[in-house]
Order: sequence, then structure tokens, then C-alpha cells
Amino acid sequence: MKGEKFLSFPVLGVLSLMLFVYYTTIFIFLDEWLGLRTSPGTLNFFFFTLLASLSLFSFFLSVLTDPGHVPSSFYPDVESSTDAKDNAERKKCDKCFGYKPPRTHHCRVCRRCVLKMDHHCLWINNCVGYWNYKAFFDFILYATISSIYSTVLFISCVLQKEWGHTIESSLKLFYVLYGTVVVGLTITLLSLTGWHVYLILHNMTTIEYYEGNRAKWLAAKTGQNYRHPYNIGAYKNITLILGPTMLKWLCPTAVSHLKEGVNFPTLRDNS
Ligand SMILES: [Zn+2]
Ligand SMILES: [Zn+2]
Repeated sequence: MKGEKFLSFPVLGVLSLMLFVYYTTIFIFLDEWLGLRTSPGTLNFFFFTLLASLSLFSFFLSVLTDPGHVPSSFYPDVESSTDAKDNAERKKCDKCFGYKPPRTHHCRVCRRCVLKMDHHCLWINNCVGYWNYKAFFDFILYATISSIYSTVLFISCVLQKEWGHTIESSLKLFYVLYGTVVVGLTITLLSLTGWHVYLILHNMTTIEYYEGNRAKWLAAKTGQNYRHPYNIGAYKNITLILGPTMLKWLCPTAVSHLKEGVNFPTLRDNS
């Protein structure tokens, strides 16, 4: 049952945090700053609700979408015919006993192989892989923008409020706590999004980043250069991951560009 994926503390935690940030931003800070019945208030209410809905929708998609399973008919491409069988055997997963396409990794939490596995994410109770990477990226991007938006509304409300002696200290404490939460959340999400923008521009997964560091170190020892084989140019990399149409990059359901996930263009194909 896919719905069971939501029955995890981290997933319920993310949902509660989203609900809390949405409620306080709209019904406390925006209401106090501009008022919900004024035109600027309504406009801000509309935009913030739109961003929050997009975050929630992409979050649901990244939780529910299968990150990518290996097709049962998959057999690896082997370069040399003499020791083809040997080469193929080396591409087998020693836990699932099936063949592993390039960029596939075995996830110990999901107990299966995942196509173009990025990492296992506790917060979505799912692996981030070939099929749900776009939904995951759109989620963190929308969540980052929503969090920055909430911070701006919060600060605007704080600046216009008259902080006299009449204001209860519990209310002051609430403002301090909310400010800490929302600023911390914004910094965390900004760093995470920045990291994934870097990975997308280089057509790399988190696992490949660390593997690449090791490969670079080993290559340097023998005086060679290592280049990530799937990095075929920033714009091409983006289109392979987010799709060929720029207008649909932020639409988490526009995934018709994704194929089986067992073949990826490399530097060698392009040269
Ligand atoms: Zn496996
Ligand atoms: Zn996993």
C-alpha cells in the first residue's frame, strides 16, 4: 500500500511543519501586517497559498512515486565478447542477484536496487532515484521559496508592530521562536537546493559525487585526470533531468522525457 509511506514520523513531521508554517504565516503574520481583507493582503494570501500547494503536491509525488526499479528483462551491455560473461557477472547486485544498470545502487533501507539512486531520504520515506528526482527537486525548490516568503512576511510584521509594555511576554517568546524556526528552515532549504542545483548542473547524483571524489584522488595518484562521464554540458544536463522544455522544469508531473533509466548518454557518446 502506497499510503503506508505516510505512516512515518519524519513524513508526518514534514507535513505538520508545513501546516504550522502555512497557518502562522497567513493567519497571524500576514493578517497582522496587511490584513486578509485588503487587496495587498489577498494578493499575498493567493501567492503564498499557491506556493504552499505546489510544495505539498510535489512532496506527495516524491513520497508516492516509485524511484525506479530495474526492468526484469535488463541485461548489461558488455564491451568485450571474450570475457562477456565475466563482465556481466560483475554487474550483478550481490543482494538482489539481478543485473544492475549503470548508475543503479542497492538501497539497504528499501532492500532493493534503485535506478540512478541519489540517496535514501528519511523525510519522504522513500529513495530519491530516476523517477522521483524531479518531484523531489521541485519540492525542495518550492519549499525554499515558500520559506523565504514566510520569512519576509514575518519580518515585515515584526517591523510594523509596536512593541510596547502592553504586549505579553509569551507572545514575544512566540515571535522569537517562530523567527528562529523559519530562519533556520530557510538556511537549511537554501543549502539543500543549492547543493542539488550543483548536482543537476554536473549531472551527478549524491552517491556519484562521493564516488567521483575517490576516483579523482585515485586518478591523481597515477597522474591522470578524472571527469564525471555523464556530465555532457550544463544545459544538456538540466534538460536530461528536468526535461527539454524550460517552461515545464517547475512542473513535477512533466516527466515524459524520462525513459527506462537504464541507459545514459556519456562524454564518450558525444565525442
Ligand atoms: Zn540490489
Ligand atoms: Zn531507499
